[in-house]
Parts: sequence; C-alpha cells; structure tokens
Amino acid sequence: MADQYDVVIVGGGMVGLTLACTLGGSALKVAVLESSPMDTDWPDGSIGLRVSAITHASRKVFKAVGAWQGMVERRVTSYGEMHVWDACGNGAVHFDSAEVGQPSLGYIVENRIIQLSLLQRLQQFDNVELLCPARWQQWHDEQGCLCLTLEDGRALRTRLLVGGDGARSPVRERAGIQTKGWGYDQHALMAIVQTEHSHLHTCWQRFLPNGPLAFLPMHGHYACVVWSTTPEQAAELMAMDAPDFLSNLSEAFEYKLGRVLEVQDRGKFPLRLQHSVDYAKERIALVGDAAHAIHPLAGQGVNLGILDAAALAETVLSTHASRRDIGALHNLRRYERWRKGQNVTMMLSMDGFKRLFSAQSEPVKIVRNIGLNATNGLIPVKRFFMEYAMGDRGDLPKLAS
Ligand SMILES: Cc1cc2nc3c(=O)[nH]c(=O)nc-3n(C[C@H](O)[C@H](O)[C@H](O)COP(=O)(O)OP(=O)(O)OC[C@H]3O[C@@H](n4cnc5c(N)ncnc54)[C@H](O)[C@@H]3O)c2cc1C
Repeated sequence: MADQYDVVIVGGGMVGLTLACTLGGSALKVAVLESSPMDTDWPDGSIGLRVSAITHASRKVFKAVGAWQGMVERRVTSYGEMHVWDACGNGAVHFDSAEVGQPSLGYIVENRIIQLSLLQRLQQFDNVELLCPARWQQWHDEQGCLCLTLEDGRALRTRLLVGGDGARSPVRERAGIQTKGWGYDQHALMAIVQTEHSHLHTCWQRFLPNGPLAFLPMHGHYACVVWSTTPEQAAELMAMDAPDFLSNLSEAFEYKLGRVLEVQDRGKFPLRLQHSVDYAKERIALVGDAAHAIHPLAGQGVNLGILDAAALAETVLSTHASRRDIGALHNLRRYERWRKGQNVTMMLSMDGFKRLFSAQSEPVKIVRNIGLNATNGLIPVKRFFMEYAMGDRGDLPKLAS
C-alpha cells in the first residue's frame, strides 16, 4: 500500500524546506524527501563555510512562515552598506541603506542555520512529514497521481511532485526537462576569515581581472570570503598553507580591512549559469537551483528560490481552494509564468555584470569605470539597484510583500 500525499518535495535544502513551511498548517498532506542526513549539530563557536546574503523579500517569507526568529536567535548579521570597486581603474560605487530609508540592505546567514531553523519550524506542522535520509528510485503515473518507490521499498502516491533537489536535479532529469546554460570557467573559493579591522557591517566587493572578490560581514571581525576566479587560481589558493593564503588574500583585497589574520575553513565550487526550459510538467514543478543556477556575484541564487517556493505555494493553495487539481499542468503554468520572467531577468543581469567586469579591453575598462562613478552620483539609479537587489521590486508573492 502506498502512503498518499498531496505534495511530495524532493530536496530538503533551503528552498525545499521553505516550500514545506509555506504549505505547513494547510489542508494539504506534504512530505519532504531528503537524501543526506541533516546537519543539525555542530561544535560551539564553529562557523559554517556556506553562507548566503539574504534579501528583505526572503526575510519576509521566513518571517511569515515562522522561521526567521530561529535564525536571529542563532546568528544573523545585517549589513547596511556595500562598497564595489574595480581593480582596473578608479571606478567605485557605494550603496547605503539610508538612501532607501531602510535600516539594512540585507542579512548574512549561514546556510546550515537557515536549514535548521526551517527544519525546526517544519516539525511543528502536523501536515508535513520529513523523510530523511530517503531517496526515490523510480516513479510511474497512476490515476491522477505519481507513484514513487523509495530505495527502502516504501511507496508514496502524490498529486504533485516538486523538484527542489538542486542544480543537478534528478527529478528534472527523470521528467525529461531540458536545461540551457554555460559554464563560466570559474570557481568560487569560499573561506571564513578574521580581519584586523572591523568590516563596519558592510559588504565589500573588488572586481579583479579574474573575477570578483567579496567579503561578507559576519559577527565580530569575521567575514565570509567569496573569491570567483579561474579554476587554476582557485586550486592554487586551496592548496596554499594558511600564512600564504592569508597574505595573498590581504593583498588581493588591498588591505581594505587591514591584514586578514586567520582562516577557518576553505572550499571551492564550480560556477555556471543554468536555466530549465520548463518549470512545470503534468504533476511536476521545479523550484530553486533545480530550475535556475546563477553566478553568485550579487548573492541572489537562493533568494530567487525562496520566491519560487512562496509563489508555488500561493499557486497550489489557491488552486486547491478552488477545488481544482494542484498537479494539472494548466494550473501549474501560472507558477511557471510568474517566476520564469523574473528569474530570467535577474540571471541575465548577473551574467551581463559578470561579462562587463571580466572584459579586459582598454575602451571597455574606461567606459566601465566612468559608468561606476556616474552611477555612484545618481541617487535614483542607485535606489533602483538597491531595491532590486533587496528583492523589493517585481511581482512578489503575498508572503514576500
Ligand atoms: C559560492 C556560492 C555562493 C553563493 N552565495 C549566495 C548568496 O550569498 N545568496 C544567495 O541567495 N545565493 C547564493 N548562492 C546560491 C545558493 O547557494 C543556491 O541557490 C542554493 O543553495 C540553492 O538551494 P536549493 O535548496 O535550491 O538547492 P540545494 O542547496 O542544492 O539543495 C538541494 C537538496 O536536495 C537534496 N537532494 C538532491 N538529490 C536528491 C534526491 N535524489 N533525493 C532526495 N534529496 C535530494 C540535496 O541533498 C540537497 O539537500 C551561492 C552559491 C555559490 C556556489
């Protein structure tokens, strides 16, 4: 006998768990299938290597589902300013939340803290079940449902299957949904470091010829470094002993925060742009990195995914309230139309910035630096960029507005 659900979400990452929480407390029966054991226990004082810049729109979603407080109680660092400058000229832009009448531009949160806070919230809902570790093996259509067989032999029937299973999404692959995109021939090196001077609750980003080097502020003098560069340089930086790494990093960052004194952890991640041709098929929807993966230079990837989750939940709940089929493609199309255009706009903007700052021809460098300085002087233009980056523009789901 198969267990019957309305929605099965494959993937208990930040996006899958957000979706589960947005459906928490509804009349729908929901299961989350996560293949890896959850990282819920870590030594006191340790800092997770993976962190995310979280927008105001995502914070509103987390708050609406009751998970934000759990994040704040663990560790959230707000930032009120952002400095961006070009290593190949004198162009620079300074963004300040005061210019948009906000106390902050966004928040830096460790991914594991986001996941744990969502997980704890999810466990308070009677209609949501977490199956972990669990992995599906196969599925087939069966009278208005999909019937999934798990690796442990269990069977689940669901009216809607959601792929929140990351950029390599096995759900997307099994559903035959194609992707388009390209590799950037870049890796992002991430590291948790401590700096000599305070980061002043500011995000710092220097565009180097090989890619952007960002310092994201954390508690005390800690910062998370995201250094996008060639795979070769990323491998060299990973292989360096700590003193060499620290002196290379301090120099690449022009000692903006004094010397970088300590590095805790390092890791590197290949970067690519990838977009699913479809976000929905009959009985299937994709959210988060399963639908789109973008360059991390403006820290938007998971924020797009959180808005996907809120938009899909809104679509599914209103479809269910009007007694229509939540898994029917014609009902899921509303979600697809809603999110695709907005995600594509953000993806192409980030791709454009990446290309603009990678260009090394003299005329482009000159125009780029003039453009940065001109933007810095134009408050309405800066306000537009800030509101866009804070997630406050576009057709937002109710939970994010
Ligand atoms: C270097 C770097 C820096 C970044 N910085 C930022 C930032 O500052 N701000 C921002 O918004 N975004 C950032 N991003 C992007 C962000 O990390 C991703 O968009 C986000 O992690 C995607 O979340 P997700 O839940 O969609 O997918 P994932 O985090 O990939 O989660 C997918 C989950 O599905 C599970 N899974 C996979 N297959 C199966 C299966 N068969 N069965 C069950 N479970 C399965 C996995 O175990 C995993 O838990 C960054 C990315 C990189 C690489």
